[in-house]
Order: sequence, then C-alpha cells, then structure tokens
Amino acid sequence: MKRHRNVKIVATLGPASSTYEVIRALVETGADVFRLNMSHGAHDEIRARHAIIRQVEQDLDTPIGILADLQGPKLRVGTFANGEEELVEGAAFRLDLDEAEGDATRVRLPHKEIFDALEPGASLLVNDGKIRLKVRDCGADYADCEVIVGGTISNRKGVNVPDVVLPLAALSEKDRKDLEFVCDLGVDWLALSFVQRAADVEEARELCQGRAAILSKIEKPAAVKAFDEILSVSDGIMVARGDLGVELPVQNVPPIQKRLVRRCRAAAKPVIVATQMLESMIESPMPTRAEVSDVATAIYEGADAIMLSAESAAGQYPIQAVATMDNVAHEVETDSTYRDIIESSRKVAHNSVADGIVAAAREIAETTNVKAICCFSQSGTTASLVARERPRVPILALTSIRDTARRLCLTWGTNCVVTGEVDRFKMAVVAAANCARAQGLATADDLIVVTAGVPFNTPGSTNILRVAPCDERLIFNADPE
Ligand code: ATP
Ligand code: MG
Ligand code: MG
Repeated sequence: MKRHRNVKIVATLGPASSTYEVIRALVETGADVFRLNMSHGAHDEIRARHAIIRQVEQDLDTPIGILADLQGPKLRVGTFANGEEELVEGAAFRLDLDEAEGDATRVRLPHKEIFDALEPGASLLVNDGKIRLKVRDCGADYADCEVIVGGTISNRKGVNVPDVVLPLAALSEKDRKDLEFVCDLGVDWLALSFVQRAADVEEARELCQGRAAILSKIEKPAAVKAFDEILSVSDGIMVARGDLGVELPVQNVPPIQKRLVRRCRAAAKPVIVATQMLESMIESPMPTRAEVSDVATAIYEGADAIMLSAESAAGQYPIQAVATMDNVAHEVETDSTYRDIIESSRKVAHNSVADGIVAAAREIAETTNVKAICCFSQSGTTASLVARERPRVPILALTSIRDTARRLCLTWGTNCVVTGEVDRFKMAVVAAANCARAQGLATADDLIVVTAGVPFNTPGSTNILRVAPCDERLIFNADPE
C-alpha cells in the first residue's frame, strides 16, 4: 500500500479493534504492522484477529506485518469483582495470593516469588507507574501497602518493583506456550519482553526455529547496559518506554531513546518507539500538543516505526489515532530540518559490496531525478541496508518470499511487493519497472534505480546497480541481456 511517509505505524489490537471493518480501516488509514499482545486476550481471540488481518491483507493485496508480543516475566495483578477500583492517597491496600477477586482493599498478585523478595519500604508501581504503593508490612503470601500516589487500578494491570531484584526466568511457562501457538499460527515478528541479556534472545531464537524474526523490548536497566550485545543477536528492537520509565528515572528515557534509535539504524535493524505516544486519545479524538511533539521527536530521530498501545487496542478513537500519527509523520518528513537531521546522523558503512551499492543508490537518488530505489531482496537484508541510508526517494523491495515482505513492513520507507521468481537481470529490471508504475511510484517517463544480486536467489549477493527507464520497451531495447 502506497504511503506518503516513511516511518511505519504499529497498532496494537484489542477489544476496540477486533472486527474486519475496524482492522481494514486501520490499514487504509495507515497501520503497517499489527501487534497482538499475548498479555491480554485468550488464544481464540488472538487466532480470530490473526485471521482477520490475513483476510484484509488478501483483500487489499498488500503485505501486512504481524508482531506477537510475549508477556515475559511481567508481574500483573489479578482481576477485580467490579473490573476496577479507585485507590486514594494514604489508604491501605493489600496484595496477596488469595484467588478471590479484588476489591477496594486488596487484590491478588499471583507471583509467589515477589513476596519472598519484598521488604518493607520497597515501592510497587502499577500501570506503567501511574499508581505508586509503598510496602509497610509483608510476609510469605501478602504485602500490606500504603497508597502513595492514587488512581484507578483495573484488571491485570502491570506491576514493577524497581528496588528489588527478582529471580525470574526470561521466558515463563506461559511464554513458551504462547510462542508455540503464535509461531504455528504464523506471525512475522516475535517481541520479547523484559530482555536482560543476549542469552535471553538466543533462548527464544532456539525455540522459534526461524519461524519469526525476533525483536527485543528494551525496558530493563540491565538491557540498556547490555544493549550492544542484545542488538547483535536481535533482528529488531522496541524502545518500550512504559516499563523503562518506571524501572529508571523518567528523565533517563529520552537520551536512551535517542541512543538506541541511532544504534539500530547503524546496524540496519528496525527500531520501534513505543508506549503512551498518544495516550490522551484513548478518550479524546484530539491529541495533546505534548503527545504530537513526542511522536514528531521519534520521527526526527529516524525511528523505523512508532506504535499505538491502548489507543488502538482499547481506546475510543483507534482510527483517529492512526490518522494523527500519519499526519504528524507527513508534516515532519516534508520539513527540511528533518532531512538535515537524517543526513547528518547517517553512518556510512564500508564492510561489503552491498554497503557500497546501497550508498551509491542513495547518492544517485540525491544527484539525479530517479523516482525510486528498487531492490531485489530474498532475506530482506539488502532492503534493510537501503533503508539504513534513509534515501530521499521511495524504496521498493521486491521479493519472492512472502514472509520477507511481511517482516519488512516494519522497516523505514520500504514498500514491499511479492513478485514471481526472476532468473535474469533484464527480467528483474522489467519486473521492478512494472511494479514501480503499478505502485504509483513512477511513470513510464521516469528513471528508477534497480539493485540485485547475480546469480539470482543467492542471499547476500547484491552486486549490480542499474539506472533504468521505467518503460518496458526502452528496457528491452537498451539492455543486452
Ligand atoms: P505491555 O507491557 O506488554 O505493553 P500493557 O498492559 O501495557 O502490556 P498494551 O498492549 O501496551 O498493554 O495496552 C495498554 C492497555 O490497553 C492495557 O493495559 C489494557 O488495559 C488495554 N489493552 C490492550 N490490549 C488489550 C486487549 N487485547 N484486551 C483488553 N485490554 C487491552
Ligand atoms: Mg511493557
Ligand atoms: Mg504497554
């Protein structure tokens, strides 16, 4: 689907976005990738949403990425008899292992190991840090707390215990079951929550067996420290600011976000900036100015994708939230300051023939009036390298592998199209030209850049660059083979 922006939009699905009509409208408005959060919703609901996405993909004839987000060792409260309760500053509130539904005085916290590790004086942060509790007294199966900052607490809200080191495995029993379930279903990306070290990613990769690409969510101080090693074993990164901002002082998050986005771009791996981007749009059709600035900042930094969480999953205005991101992106990306920032933060790599070819493709786009850079990419690596250059003209990634096209939906500026296999360069140029015209990226009078690897169908072999006319007859007349 042709977009008038380069940054991609990830929308979380939930009760507010589970019908064919809404999911289709989200794609038509701008969603490129859907996130299925395994923390919420039974397998049946996940399966139903997955089937609808694939139906929309077929009906709109455009690849759509699906990202399954594993809960990881996230602590969550149980459910409430009334669904939610108001906690008032100064009140007492108990967390325990009792299976009964919660009320205004207590709720279940179904993690025995926390009670073993808690000490009086420890802080508990609920719902991305919005509610703050202090432990006054605790035992093997309870913690009596005082409400320091009140708010509405509702079913299955997350809990962080920043002061206490918890002995938690990277993948819980539930995560392993969810991983099998979503890999069988067929998702393109698997997001791992609360990654702390590279070994956590390797463990998931072992279980995943190549069925999905692996994205590490950076939301623990330990992951920030071990970021380079984690990045090297991951296929993509999410700056998961909700938990990061409660695990670390909140003012540490913006510099970390900037650093992580730059490192990912240099490594040619997609990075998503996530959480509370348009939070007020859960209940309002209009964002706040601060939220618009937050979205704009992530785009100016060069993030591959920006994400909606509750705004699209459980909010009243999911489509307006996507439209807002789309509008902000268009405005930022047509600003000359954006170009200045993107150009000055480019790190040119000199490690391979492919690095040279993508840099040349970008320079040709800067110095001539070619309308698109078309790259044949089997694994998606060459397309990611072209995207790392952040060229001025659209990127058209052509692949015969549908999974590659779907994974690339997360990559900056990449329009993905599944083509039949080509075995001669001339046919590749013809296919690229036809595709660029069909996608509305170029007309028959325009020029395009085509990159490919010969011999064909050998991954990592990009070695040809051709500036070609977009008119099939001219290609046949001009090209010898
Ligand atoms: P995570 O730490 O994985 O981001 P989260 O609880 O913050 O987990 P999000 O997907 O970010 O979940 O969504 C934010 C909020 O939106 C949730 O806390 C929940 O209230 C609501 N929500 C999201 N998805 C669903 C869903 N499928 N069913 C019910 N509520 C949902
Ligand atoms: Mg999280
Ligand atoms: Mg969240």
